[in-house]
Amino acid sequence: MPQDARRDIRLIIVGAGLVGLAAAIGFRKSQFQVTVLERVEEFSTKSAGITAPPNAASVLRVLGVLDELEAIAYQPNHFSVRSYSDGTVLARESKPSFLALHRATFHRILLEKAKSLGAEIKLGVVISKIDFQTPTVFLSNGDIYRGDLILGADGQDSQCRQLMLGRPERAMHGGRQFFAMDIEQSKLLKDDELREFVDPPAMNFWLGPHSHAVVFPLREDGLVHIIGSLLEDPDGPIRAKPRPLDMDELREQFVDWHPQLRRVFDLAPGGVKWSLTTTPYLTQWTHPDGKFGLIGDAAHAMLPFFGQGAAQGIEDVMVLTQLFARLTHKEQIPDFLTIFGDLRVPRAMRVKDKVDELRMLMTMPNGDMQRERDRQLREYAEKPFSGYPLPWMDPDFNNWIYSYDIPKEIAQAWEKYTKGLWPKTRGSWKILLST
Ligand SMILES: Cc1cc2nc3c(=O)[nH]c(=O)nc-3n(C[C@H](O)[C@H](O)[C@H](O)COP(=O)(O)OP(=O)(O)OC[C@H]3O[C@@H](n4cnc5c(N)ncnc54)[C@H](O)[C@@H]3O)c2cc1C
Repeated sequence: MPQDARRDIRLIIVGAGLVGLAAAIGFRKSQFQVTVLERVEEFSTKSAGITAPPNAASVLRVLGVLDELEAIAYQPNHFSVRSYSDGTVLARESKPSFLALHRATFHRILLEKAKSLGAEIKLGVVISKIDFQTPTVFLSNGDIYRGDLILGADGQDSQCRQLMLGRPERAMHGGRQFFAMDIEQSKLLKDDELREFVDPPAMNFWLGPHSHAVVFPLREDGLVHIIGSLLEDPDGPIRAKPRPLDMDELREQFVDWHPQLRRVFDLAPGGVKWSLTTTPYLTQWTHPDGKFGLIGDAAHAMLPFFGQGAAQGIEDVMVLTQLFARLTHKEQIPDFLTIFGDLRVPRAMRVKDKVDELRMLMTMPNGDMQRERDRQLREYAEKPFSGYPLPWMDPDFNNWIYSYDIPKEIAQAWEKYTKGLWPKTRGSWKILLST
């Protein structure tokens, strides 16, 4: 009976990014009918790296894509955090259990899996309206998609979010400009002073006043990726579209940074820069009619200082799919969305806060606080304390973020729900008494 009930339920996902596709896989695994509506006609293959931390990897295993990702990705030998001025290593974590890979490869693997499980993926479609009650998505070409549940996975500048809230809640300026460059690994391997950034493959971070930089190689494309941030006027225009990086200007901005990093910059043939955006602090992710929810960046975009943006979206997917795998009747959908929001909002908002704190810590101007940060990083790198400035090395935060046990959390939530003890629900638990 439960499986048959799910087969009749139609899910529409708006957005085929990493999170929308992960959701398509998770729901197809539980037999839901899944249609994904995506705006672009073709997916980008442009060069960019992404990391999958342990809390994402455990979900990716359940989705059945981890082996394929691991075969392509690499696990960095170490994360090293360096001072911008003298280049010394302030803190190092050996063999962090992260996967580093090409974003387009990650996306392709999810897309192929979603398709192989029977998800319908429609490209090049533009949404004009959502009726949250029925629930129905109207496209600008006149097509209409009616389902039982709609998920808005349309990224930071989510149209779904704005339609749900009924107000223009656009992505906001993150007060930072981001830059990205690629260099052939062979160029660093040939250089005695730069080889250490590639061999063994690792992630090196430099912390400086108002800026940071990260250098990491990727296995699949033979490139070293360099990313970093610079201050940008938060009241100025948002220039989210990547534009060419002025290398002379970049060198000028990093003129007093360590020569090793500047030498890496000198090897880059060019790069791109863009304004970073984020989303407002949103605590309502579901529509009151109970048939629509936001996931991924549409709900909780964060600045890329902690490598948790996609990971949090992937957690959304696991919580939702583990809940919906227990669905026996359509009437339960609103209550399941309530439980989803109650479980996910506080956790994602805590991570978002942590990212803001980390951005401040990683780009601190020179002064007493920066010197104290560096002292703590150095002196406690071998035995980090609770509240250590790098959250991935802070034992308590590390445990909270990376060892999140979603099946356990869902089992506890289920027990409360089935006893009629989950606040703000509509009594759908009683259906279980008659089945
Ligand atoms: C430089 C940088 C580095 C990062 N590094 C990491 C990292 O190491 N680890 C990590 O976990 N996260 C990282 N992130 C964050 C991560 O990239 C995002 O959190 C993640 O891509 C969000 O996925 P999403 O599917 O929610 O949104 P998106 O990836 O934005 O996908 C949204 C999709 O919806 C489509 N769409 C948009 N509007 C519509 C519409 N109206 N109708 C239909 N389709 C629509 C878009 O075309 C897109 O395909 C990084 C981000 C940046 C900028």
